Amino acid sequence: MRTQMATEAGRTTAPSEDRALVGPNLLAVLDGVTAKPENGCEHGVGWFADQLAAEILRVAHLAPAEALAKAVEQAAELHAGTCDLDHPDSPSVAIAVVQIKDDVLRYLVLGDATVVVDTRQELRVVSDTKTQRTAGAKAADVEHALTGEIALQDVRRVALLSDGAARAVDLFNLFDWRQALELMAANGPDDLIRKMRAVEKEDAKAVDWPRQKISDDATVVYLDR
Ligand SMILES: [Zn+2]
Repeated sequence: MRTQMATEAGRTTAPSEDRALVGPNLLAVLDGVTAKPENGCEHGVGWFADQLAAEILRVAHLAPAEALAKAVEQAAELHAGTCDLDHPDSPSVAIAVVQIKDDVLRYLVLGDATVVVDTRQELRVVSDTKTQRTAGAKAADVEHALTGEIALQDVRRVALLSDGAARAVDLFNLFDWRQALELMAANGPDDLIRKMRAVEKEDAKAVDWPRQKISDDATVVYLDR
């Protein structure tokens, strides 16, 4: 199995709030939700994404939903004493997790991150762009995650994307998901981001493709077997 990763900040003036994890049996993409001016937290979204990523790695042996719930609890403890975790805009992330264990691929998506699994028979595209749910300070939020599992022998390749990268397909329609996987197989996931940035640059006023952020933090983790 080979894993490749690409990530690029949406702007040169601010650090990316996307994070990517490539562990021995775990892949994840975290996308920090853009902070409101007042969110009850003195640390910031980037800090929260870092802590949650670290906590997920610590419990990577658990199934994804269990691992994420545990990680959310642990991350909350790190700033429960200093910050108002009941604040509605408390830092949170959209997240995609893929765990490969015991000949099974398990995935989890919470929020507008995307997991694409090519199973030879079908292409499974998992994302929740409607509900705006995220992983923040409450472990109960993880109950709303989309989860599933596929026998590893049926998996040909898998990609995890933050919404800033998935927009190459679901906003700009540069290619369909199967073509996107072919592109990543041939040129690596950074080529997807490069091609998308070129389009974003051409439409710098968001006229052809109306969007809030001209370019967003974009992250892809791609695995093929
Ligand atoms: Zn905090």
